[in-house]
Amino acid sequence: MNTVPYAATDKSDGALPASLSVLGATGSVGRQALEVAEEHKIPLDLITANTDVNGMEALARKCKPRFCVMADDLAARDLSTRLRDTGITVRGGEAALCETIREVNSPVTVNAILGEAGLLPTLACVSLGRRLALSNKETLVVAGELVKAEAKKTGCEIIPVDSEHSAIFQCLHAGQKSEVKSILLTASGGPFRNLTREQLEQVTLQDALDHPTWKMGAKITVDSATLMNKGFEVIEAVHLFDVSPDAVRVVVHPESIIHSAVEYIDNAVVAQLSVPDMRLCVQYALTYPRRLPGLTPPLDLFSIGALNFVPPSAAFPLLPLAYRAIKLGGGVPAVLNAANEVAVAAFLNEKIGFTDIFRVVCDTVEKLTARRSAKTVGELLDCDSEARAVAATLL
Ligand code: NDP
Repeated sequence: MNTVPYAATDKSDGALPASLSVLGATGSVGRQALEVAEEHKIPLDLITANTDVNGMEALARKCKPRFCVMADDLAARDLSTRLRDTGITVRGGEAALCETIREVNSPVTVNAILGEAGLLPTLACVSLGRRLALSNKETLVVAGELVKAEAKKTGCEIIPVDSEHSAIFQCLHAGQKSEVKSILLTASGGPFRNLTREQLEQVTLQDALDHPTWKMGAKITVDSATLMNKGFEVIEAVHLFDVSPDAVRVVVHPESIIHSAVEYIDNAVVAQLSVPDMRLCVQYALTYPRRLPGLTPPLDLFSIGALNFVPPSAAFPLLPLAYRAIKLGGGVPAVLNAANEVAVAAFLNEKIGFTDIFRVVCDTVEKLTARRSAKTVGELLDCDSEARAVAATLL
């Protein structure tokens, strides 16, 4: 992790970036990033989305960015017509998205795009050598080694937005890297943490979308219910913090108050606590190494009372599969991610049941373990395409 001094263009006593880009602005994290920008009056260079033209039009009129990009060309044409009276430049397509990221060259870019589609925009941000506030965990799952190597070359600071990794990042300031013994990655356990494998067969889409502690986009809510999300976060932690997979221990903590912790060699455990609120994570990624008052309510420990901790249940196979995938390395985590994207999309469309997600993802990874030699972006994207094709045959 690079910790280069913060950009000289900051204002507000150096704590805030002079301007911001938010990728995936219409999503759950993207909208919360825009709330943070509004609260601190940070001007917006660029906001992006995929197809949600209504959402983008409303955000563009409210936040007045210089540029709007829709990854989908047709959506961009529609948005361009709608925003004719505003002076905002509208562009369309994935290539235009990466070009515009480079052109606006924001001091900080928040990447809150969903899924593997976030990878090329991440690489475009990294090439600038500025700060990347990274929420799109799939970037690191698919191409963690490559992204880190590029960031090292350009001096890009990657500050995690994912709440657990933001917590770990904060806890790591309590000691030296060589003094870290393990990372305790907390998990709410999702809505089904007490169910048996047989009971999991019966859960419905509606049950899966009802997360007990976090309000999130549909895909990550399902990933939280299957514990795939926690598996991705193990991989994300391995890359962000340069630790071995076995040094990352998952602790189910249903209250989601401790967002993760770091255990040091003297057995001191340093944890970060707050009410569950992504706006705190986004804001810290913007203001690091400083802190500012923000939108997150204070934590009242007396009203919480008890905090509980249990090991993850063996009924969820995707968490151990993620450990296996990162140990195999190369293109296997990209295969894991792509298979999961296909399976979750099918589940959200009610084409398969909840436990079919386990089957499709496990079987796809088993068929493609030989992809461990993939290294380049092209090879990793090939693994992604191949895994999507294999997973589609297993639905
Ligand atoms: P949402 O589904 O709510 O939003 C996703 C955003 O990405 C939308 O703006 C969407 O545009 C855009 N998008 C989707 N597909 C594409 C594409 N192919 N090309 C370009 N843009 C695209 O997701 P979340 O906000 O829940 O999650 C975003 C990322 O943050 C994920 O990686 C997730 O794992 C991570 N994360 C989320 C947390 C949360 O609390 N939600 C917590 C921690 C991490 P459109 O609206 O037009 O479809």
